[in-house]
Amino acid sequence: MTTKNIIIIGGGITGLTAAYYLQKDIAERDLPFEVKLLEASNRLGGKINTKRMNGFIIERGPDSFLARKQPAVKLANDLGLSDQLIRNRTGQAYIFARGALHEIPQGSHMGIPTQIRPFLESALLSTRGKLRAGLDYILPRGKEVGDQSLGKFLRRRLGDELVENSIEPLLSGIYSGDLDQMSLMATFPHFLELEQRYRSLIKGLQQTMSEQKTTSQNKRGKFFSFKNGLETIVAAIIKQTGNELFHINTKVEKIVKTHSRYRIYTNRDACYEADAIIVAVPHHVLPHLFQAYDFFQPLTHVPLTSVANIALAFDQSQIKNDIHGTGFVVSRNSSNRITACTWTHKKWQHTAPDGKALLRAYVGQPSDQAIVRLSDTDMTNIVLRDLTPIMNIVGDPEFAVVTRWEKAMPQYTVGHKARIRQIKEKMEKSLPGVFLAGSSYGGVGIPDCIAQGEQAKRQAFLYLQKQ
Ligand code: FAD
Repeated sequence: MTTKNIIIIGGGITGLTAAYYLQKDIAERDLPFEVKLLEASNRLGGKINTKRMNGFIIERGPDSFLARKQPAVKLANDLGLSDQLIRNRTGQAYIFARGALHEIPQGSHMGIPTQIRPFLESALLSTRGKLRAGLDYILPRGKEVGDQSLGKFLRRRLGDELVENSIEPLLSGIYSGDLDQMSLMATFPHFLELEQRYRSLIKGLQQTMSEQKTTSQNKRGKFFSFKNGLETIVAAIIKQTGNELFHINTKVEKIVKTHSRYRIYTNRDACYEADAIIVAVPHHVLPHLFQAYDFFQPLTHVPLTSVANIALAFDQSQIKNDIHGTGFVVSRNSSNRITACTWTHKKWQHTAPDGKALLRAYVGQPSDQAIVRLSDTDMTNIVLRDLTPIMNIVGDPEFAVVTRWEKAMPQYTVGHKARIRQIKEKMEKSLPGVFLAGSSYGGVGIPDCIAQGEQAKRQAFLYLQKQ
């Protein structure tokens, strides 16, 4: 039997997951398949990037993943990493709005109140804003039942003030996008289901959250990382899959269909032949890779936003207003330029040596993209200017690590799901054996990317077995 070649393009967590599970199955079942992964940059892991410095563990990209979503936990277990998983420490989180830090009212779900008393007692919203949010109880169901902007949906139900002071800052931490452009159906489709079922979104959340509470009463942290940082999972995949499979510094430039196979051209002299391809790169790359196929063109209009984060190391004594909690997000209406700050040494105690503090501040709201291109010094000064009045910081940080993610956050704008579905349908007809996976398509969170990597592996196997 002739050997079939499977090429994976992109060495982020999606491509790495596909490589790991492909190689595992090939070895276990002695299949006549050969896998290679081509990665443009000089390292594997994509956005997962851990820096260890002076006893600190600094995450430059994601810092954790949701514990309740199984694919990431399963991958960690399959890799034998379960004893290295750690949960975040729980604690009060805050929103900076109306010039002060406010505790996120108890019972908030993504900034939407589900317990009335803590919400009414909070100074997060004006009386007018609270009354407007309360209208959700009596407003009729919306007429639109298809996709629409998340911002439009939430503003109609709950009013602008709740959206801008409470919901938007929390959601932008996940998507770094403009709520008024984001697709409801690609982000929180259950909000629409709840409105259709209960009429009121708050009532619907109250109902479903109380059902969830009866099944899980514990107050454990909701996120997992690893004792030595998130990159542990990348290192384990590389080690267990076999280094020779990975080709770094290999940027794919063009893919051409030749009869029933594909030829992959790269920035190097090497050209690869493939029977099946898993494409795990961001969406804006696709129209360049498949120039002969017009149906990728709509992806050129799908925006990517830029963000940056600044990790600041201090001696704990330098932070005079050491607030008990895990961090805060910033209201869109605030004049601050940071969008959030994690008190990393509290949320993830293993990340800082005893007596030290590690703060991680974020910048790059959709209306302030220019900040990401400032110099390290200018960005750090802006962050310190915003943080100092809140936390009363004295003196300079011991060091600062600035990480820019330019045009890195794919935006699931209205129509996202239909757009991706149409492209996949066209690929099935015109590019059989080529499968899409990753954060631009079916979910941005690490568990969603892992699930997509695993699914693409299954699709590639199924396809090749039918050949
Ligand atoms: P990527 O990691 O972007 O990998 C794609 C790879 O493809 C890259 O390595 C790239 O170099 C390569 N590539 C591109 N073009 C080519 C080409 N032509 N040829 C070959 N290779 C190419 N998610 C969470 O679950 N929890 C978090 O806490 C969290 N925080 C985040 C914080 C930040 C700052 C960022 C930026 C993201 C965060 N995310 C978080 C999201 C999550 O990290 C990403 O969605 C996920 O890691 C993306 O994985 P991926 O493999 O799809 O893409």
